[in-house]
Amino acid sequence: MPAKIIDGKAISEQIMAEAALEIAGLKARKIAPGLAVVLVGEDPASISYVSGKEKACARLGIYSEMHRMPAATTMDELLDAVDGLNRRSEIHGLLVQSPLPSGLDEARVVEEIDPRKDVDGFHPINIGRMLAGQESLLPCTPAGIIEMLLRSGHDPSGKHAVIVGRSNIVGRPLANLLSRKGKGGDATVTLCHSRTPDLAHHTRQADILVAAIGKPMAITADMVKDGAVVIDVGVNRVPDAGAKRGYRLVGDVDFDKVSEKASAITPVPGGVGLMTVAMLMKNTAKAAGAI
Ligand code: NDP
Repeated sequence: MPAKIIDGKAISEQIMAEAALEIAGLKARKIAPGLAVVLVGEDPASISYVSGKEKACARLGIYSEMHRMPAATTMDELLDAVDGLNRRSEIHGLLVQSPLPSGLDEARVVEEIDPRKDVDGFHPINIGRMLAGQESLLPCTPAGIIEMLLRSGHDPSGKHAVIVGRSNIVGRPLANLLSRKGKGGDATVTLCHSRTPDLAHHTRQADILVAAIGKPMAITADMVKDGAVVIDVGVNRVPDAGAKRGYRLVGDVDFDKVSEKASAITPVPGGVGLMTVAMLMKNTAKAAGAI
């Protein structure tokens, strides 16, 4: 039987509706949440992500500002821009879109962001609080994946989750959240990466398989256990002469073939990406409520 589609659109709409309620509550307290996004350079994928974030803000009545800076921006200029936004009381959430042009030190920039405004959840203080199981602003993509699993009836508790990809923004925080004690966690986690020998041996053991690799079709049907739940984080542009823009978006999973084996799967587009934006809206509301 083909896999059930885990509908990122429907689930992210639930989260957007919840965020809208939180925002209405904030406005009743005379707090108008504000999000600032800093975009350095002209990376087309980043431009498209940032525009999605602005649209989501507009939908929910979150005040948003986009700060576009040229690719030649220096570290000092970027740190000054972050510092200025840290100081503005009407800005509750602040993120610097990654990746940054080469030569700019992303880790240093993230450290400059006021942790209370760090709606991406990447600041070492928020990462540390997450690792310690304390309240924090959680990274949007991993937190969105947990919501997706819970709301589609795939509680990770007691399951073996195998994650492929150990980036700081997806794989590693997700491994932490899935292995935490309590709701959305309690899974046994295996974290794989490019140095993992015999990757398929690990992926085939997964009750929940998460692909966050950045390589189209990296996860093929022979790597997936019958009945697994497959979460495809990858967003890859592949050339497609028939498509209006000359490319189409695909995930890291061979969707058609893997769908024949998995019990449930997320599509790309229409999956994890929408959750990321919705969780960003939630984090912005949370940051506004806490300041
Ligand atoms: P990174 O490039 O930072 O990390 C990729 C990870 O995959 C690394 O840990 C790397 O291993 C591992 N890897 C690469 N090749 C292999 C391989 N052949 N076998 C096993 N592991 C491999 O990527 P990100 O985590 O930032 O993003 C991953 C994908 O998810 C991208 O397509 C990105 O666009 C997408 N993404 C989507 C989001 C969304 O909202 N939908 C949000 C964020 C990312 P190693 O560490 O050893 O190099």
